[in-house]
Amino acid sequence: MLSYLNKKIISFMDWFVERHDDTAFMVRVNKKLYEGGTFQKIEIYSTPLGKMLVLDGKIQFTEKDEMMYHEMLVHVPMMMHPSPEKVLIIGGGDGGAAREALKYEPSSITIVEIDREVVEKCKEIIKIDGGALNDKRVRILYEDGIKFVRECEEHFDVVIVDGTDPNIFSSHIASRQFYEKASKISDIMVTQSQSPFFQPDYFKAIAKNSSFLKNRRFYISYMPSYPSGLWSFMISGDYELNEEQIKKRWEERNVETLHYNPDMHLASFALPEWMKKML
Ligand code: SAM
Repeated sequence: MLSYLNKKIISFMDWFVERHDDTAFMVRVNKKLYEGGTFQKIEIYSTPLGKMLVLDGKIQFTEKDEMMYHEMLVHVPMMMHPSPEKVLIIGGGDGGAAREALKYEPSSITIVEIDREVVEKCKEIIKIDGGALNDKRVRILYEDGIKFVRECEEHFDVVIVDGTDPNIFSSHIASRQFYEKASKISDIMVTQSQSPFFQPDYFKAIAKNSSFLKNRRFYISYMPSYPSGLWSFMISGDYELNEEQIKKRWEERNVETLHYNPDMHLASFALPEWMKKML
């Protein structure tokens, strides 16, 4: 009996637990591969879902499911742009978003990542970027993306905001001022907008602060390792594509994906009634 209990206790310690106010998500851990971080706590684990990045206690992705998030974040705006040549990614230091954007063969991608260590450790240990972080078309700037956008005088075809959960250095990433400027310097802007179910206040703040944006719409997808699995995105800008046009563009561009396709694209804009009410 005692040895059975011991075994249970020990095996419980082999799980990474992401805690929320009233719920938690657990992933079994084979090994901790890295722990560090001066700017934010960075943990990297080997798990049955592949390598897993955790920042300040929050799972950013596992190797097994990251494509669900990165493909929906990137392909929706990139498909809607007639010629996405110049791309700006705010955050996204793991390189997953850049990897997807490179499939459109843009002339340049600028990544503005506040934490150099995330980029270095993702390049060294996780490697989901598939070489994107070393690609000659990709420029990486280590600075605050909010400040970069505020002072930016360049124009980008697509701006992709791939930030972390709201925290001390990223809460302004959902402010009206940030959206105003980010939309001015781009044709299309997209941002991940967290869990509408578990983070309703943050989601509503994004909705309120972005309500003035042109063609502002929300779309949803699933991401198993995020709270509840349901994740949301907000897009705005110069895009107007119907079903036929999206399908035609998809065929013409011949982009390879694991998750995104025109059916997923179109379906992702169908919102449940409770979310519509929040908006
Ligand atoms: N897929 C993730 C999610 O939603 O859970 C986001 C992953 S990505 C690793 C988020 C990155 O945004 C982090 O590396 C973090 O350092 C960066 N970040 C957060 N706030 C930022 C800011 N103000 N400027 C630039 N990068 C920022």
